Amino acid sequence: MHEMGICQGILDASLDAAKAEGATRIKEIRISVGELTEVVEYALQFAFEALTPGTLAEGSVLLVNHIPAKSRCLQCGAEYEHDRFDSTCPSCGNPFSENIAGRELLIDSLEIDTGDEAPEDGE
Ligand SMILES: [Zn+2]
Repeated sequence: MHEMGICQGILDASLDAAKAEGATRIKEIRISVGELTEVVEYALQFAFEALTPGTLAEGSVLLVNHIPAKSRCLQCGAEYEHDRFDSTCPSCGNPFSENIAGRELLIDSLEIDTGDEAPEDGE
């Protein structure tokens, strides 16, 4: 299950960032995952549950933003979203395209507790 390794990487980076901010706790980790990474969210959440106990991220929420795969047709230049199995151009039927999105695996933001009584920003 490659999600375990991916999750460990996300968690390590999040913990480093949180500690640098003086966090006492991580409340939420938001990530973006491209369709083409083939990461299964269920498996990622399972790994997160397994890896976070005993860390600053214990009890936090992992929010996953899914990014669809997108390609540009090498023949007509059309840009279109597609699934991971078929990237044929919907405009001209050309199977040759250049991938432009869907391989992302990023931490977008962290919500942390610093222990101060900071007022809620009412997000
Ligand atoms: Zn095309």
